Amino acid sequence: MKLYSLGTTAAVPKAIIGRITTAGIAPGQAREDHILFLKEAPPPADTDGYAAVLTTQGGAPWADHVPVVHSLTGVDYLADGDVVRIDPNGYVRTLYRRQSPNNFILTTDQCNSYCLMCSQPPKRVNDFYRLAEHIRLVDLMDPETKELVITGGEPTLLKDGFLRLIQHCKEKLPGTALHVLTNGRLFYYRRFAEALGAIGHPDLMLGIPVYSDVDSAHDYVVQAKGAFEQTVTGLHNLARHDVAVEIRVVLHALTYRRLPQTAEFIARNFPFAAQVALMGMEMVGFVHKNMAELWIDPHDYQKELAEATWFLFRSGLNVKIYNHQLCVLDRLLWPFACRSISDWKNIYLDTCDPCLARDRCGGFFESAAKKHSDYIKPLLDLKAPHNAGVAVA
Ligand code: SF4
Repeated sequence: MKLYSLGTTAAVPKAIIGRITTAGIAPGQAREDHILFLKEAPPPADTDGYAAVLTTQGGAPWADHVPVVHSLTGVDYLADGDVVRIDPNGYVRTLYRRQSPNNFILTTDQCNSYCLMCSQPPKRVNDFYRLAEHIRLVDLMDPETKELVITGGEPTLLKDGFLRLIQHCKEKLPGTALHVLTNGRLFYYRRFAEALGAIGHPDLMLGIPVYSDVDSAHDYVVQAKGAFEQTVTGLHNLARHDVAVEIRVVLHALTYRRLPQTAEFIARNFPFAAQVALMGMEMVGFVHKNMAELWIDPHDYQKELAEATWFLFRSGLNVKIYNHQLCVLDRLLWPFACRSISDWKNIYLDTCDPCLARDRCGGFFESAAKKHSDYIKPLLDLKAPHNAGVAVA
């Protein structure tokens, strides 16, 4: 699903963020927060006071005194309560979908690491000014939103701005679980971890990667010398200040060999972790240019994955396997497998059509259509013994 569209503008002088309404809002009911979205509906009685008007029709001569984007295509999914940003050139980007369980705020394109398999390659741009947009977006979200991911780039580079965003989420979305994806390096500075803990968000978890039990191996994957020490210290500082953490390990040719040792390192050093996620690699971003160094068929690391999973499980940690297809996983690992791929980039292959496990299987990232395991095959007998035959029970 594309989360952006291009239309033709009439009088959109500056970027506008607003909440979609298709039914319209009565005058005096915060129309200024709303963008009226009309597909084939007849023109409304009046459009005064809306932040903007969007329409799939070829024009909107009836929309007086408001910014208009017309001739939009590919926006059928837009629904009441969604939030979009309209640029002066007619570019409409969906920032939030009320019915989706997979909403996120991309805080910045900057990062202090340069991971070899980064799915969202960092850019050297000064985009911290976007904090105001993020705050506005939180204001417009439905307070019933179950979960929100804060990601980047590296969100903590906003420093005080990051803390402000978390505080704002706590105030405006008190029932929404926050999951922050961060490299954790800035929590090396204890005061930063302390300040985050002091916010006292009721449902906050930080997902932080640890790629090896060996410092130089981790630093190589993230292309930043000293990152391992910063992340490990950061994790302990967060634990000291009662901030929940998830440890994330992305599996590829540079991380799988020491996965059992990495699991042992995690269990011994971060027993406070709320969960440990062992993750398949997404085939986007820097993965393409580093493919020769990173690619291993997931089938070929099942032994290490099974050893690590069982060790973490027996150590009392909540271990999860993300982004793996059930036909490649040993069946003893199925209870750990999660449907982890965001709905807007989750696909299944034609091969999956007859598969009896499809309802339980998380499928693929859209980007895996061209490159995926050679061992994908529909499962036609769910009682068959372990398909991969490698589990260490
Ligand atoms: S065939 Fe497709 S749906 Fe079935 S387990 Fe494999 S990836 Fe999942």
